[in-house]
Formats: sequence, structure tokens, C-alpha cells
Amino acid sequence: ACASDRGDTAAEGSTGSSSGSDSGICIPDGSVIGVALPQKTSENWVLAEQLFNDGLTEAGFDPIVQFGNSGVTEQQNQIDSMVEQGAKVIVVGAIDGSQLGTQLESAKDSGATVIAYDRLVKNTEAVDAYIAFDNYQVGVLQGTALLDGLKERKGDGPYNIELIAGSSDDANSTPFFEGAMSVLQPKIDDGTLTVVSGQTTFEQAATQGWKAENAQKRMDTILSGYYSGDVALDGILSPNDTLARAALTAVEQAGKDVPVITGQDSEVESVKSIMAGVQYSTIYKDTRELVQQTIDSIVDLQNCGDIPINDTTQYDNGVKVVPAYLLTPVIVTKANAAEVYANDPTLGPIVAGTE
Ligand code: BGC
Repeated sequence: ACASDRGDTAAEGSTGSSSGSDSGICIPDGSVIGVALPQKTSENWVLAEQLFNDGLTEAGFDPIVQFGNSGVTEQQNQIDSMVEQGAKVIVVGAIDGSQLGTQLESAKDSGATVIAYDRLVKNTEAVDAYIAFDNYQVGVLQGTALLDGLKERKGDGPYNIELIAGSSDDANSTPFFEGAMSVLQPKIDDGTLTVVSGQTTFEQAATQGWKAENAQKRMDTILSGYYSGDVALDGILSPNDTLARAALTAVEQAGKDVPVITGQDSEVESVKSIMAGVQYSTIYKDTRELVQQTIDSIVDLQNCGDIPINDTTQYDNGVKVVPAYLLTPVIVTKANAAEVYANDPTLGPIVAGTE
């Protein structure tokens, strides 16, 4: 174990904020590391559980990895219990980024380091670092893919589209939507795109709990209300694969042609759909890479070092800018899938047709 006492945690080094008051902690070998994950709303979370358990154990830690399956209260209780069990680091993928202040403040009081994983934690000083794929860039890539797909599959515009956003309690949902709208709004303004339902705000487009059934219901209502007869639905902005498949089900049930639709997460069913020429795009955020970056950061703490940070401007959580390490998301269509997934143990064989 490491005995030195350097005051160089990420939060202190990068922002000088008072949340670095735990400076000088070098976490010992065998430490308990708590990993609080949200619900299993997409495959990435399920994969993360196993990767954290295996990777942390291999690095000599004692992991507690839990899902907040039943919601915010369960996740709050899990974090409290991790702190009681002496966790030196709390890694948290928040269900509701604004509801963990009390728990994370007591984690900090106990001397733990708090890392927001994939989703930002809001309205609290009690977070040392944020490790994620660049969420805004995910949205930019989705908006761009929607425009490219429309041109490729539906010819020259104008096009009728609809917008779907993620769950409003997830801090990622806004940057996803805003990134996409940075590309789409100018095309709505110049008449290339028409959102026929008129539902263009984040609040109107949001999908509570990231639940497929909620997206499907909303699409059903939009289709029956605005797309009767010959009105074509050319494209759908979907923030992830689960919701894309739900929206496609609604479109199919309404007897409409397949729209150009975006996604995210490179879920197996969606990758198959892309290869079959149905779903247009997804995003590859390699969960192995994200978990590894997080585990490497914990190992750095074990060696009395800093959590690596490459962004100190983008992620303002309401009370401070959280120092972040952002990884680069990749857009995937049928055209580049083989190349992007070449080294992915699950997706590689699917796109190569050898699974
Ligand atoms: C993740 C996405 C995922 C969504 C639903 C978000 O916070 O960044 O990758 O699709 O949660 O699980």
C-alpha cells in the first residue's frame, strides 16, 4: 500500500474546489470499491457489472457492484451501505443525477473518492471526477447520421421527422438532445426538416425511465394523430438502440415505411438490424474501454496519483465544473460496422457473419 500524502486529487488539482478536502488519500490494497449502477435499461450496464467485478478483483480490490433496480431509493440505500462497509471509492452511474447529494456527501465525509461513471452527478460538490464518453458529441453524431441517412435513403428533402429524447432524470439526456439539435435545428429552421407533431422541445420528446414501452406509446399516439393516410414519416432521432427498436415497432404496426432512425449503444439486436438494412445508425461506446479507464483511475489513486482528466470546462453540475475524462464515441452505419467492431468479441463475429 501507498503511504505518501500528496494532495493531488483530480478535484483539487483541476478546480481548486473545496471538494478536494480528502487530499492525500492513497487507497490501500484490498480496499472495498463500491460501484452503484442504475437499472438495466441497456446492454452497456449489464456488461459493466461483469467488467467491474472482474477488473477490480484482478487489480486487487474488493468490489461491491449493484444495480438500483427498483429506483432512486434503492440506489441511495446501496450507496449508504457501501460507505458503511468502508468503500474507499464510490463509482456511480446515477439513476437520477440530482438525488444523490446526501449519500455522496456522507461518502466524502468518510474519506471516499467519488467518481461519476457515464452519467454526471448534479447539484453537489461531492463528486471528484466524471468518466464518460462525450455525451454532446454522441448527439452531434446522431443528428449528422439522421441527415446523412435521409439523403441516402429518402432522396432529396424536405423530410418529415420526429424526435425522441432520453429520460429527463438522466443527466446525459440533455447533452444527447442538444448535440443532435445543434445539427437538426438549422435544418428545421430552413424547412429541410419538418417535425410534423410539432414536439420539438426536450420535455416533449423525453422518455421517462428510458423505457421502451413509453417511447412506443408516444410514437403510437404521434403516428395516429399526425401521420394518417399518405403522410410519410421519413426519419426519427432516437437517443439509443432500445428506444429505436420500440419506435420501429410502432411504425411497423402503423403500416408505415421504415424511417431512417438513429440509435446508441451498439446493442446486438440493433447491430443485426443495421446489417439487415433497417436501423440506420448506432453509436459505439466500448464499455470495456470506459470501465478500464475507471479502474485505471482507481489504480492511480492506489498509487497516490491523480485521476487522469482531459476536460475541465464542459460538465458543470450546477455547483461546480466536474473535472472529466471524456472518451470518443464512434458513429456506426452498415458501411463502417465491420471496421468499427473488428475487435469487439461479441459484435465482430456478428458483422462478419461468423457468429
Ligand atoms: C447511457 C446510454 C444509455 C442510456 C439508457 C445513458 O446514460 O449513456 O448509453 O443508452 O443511459 O440506458
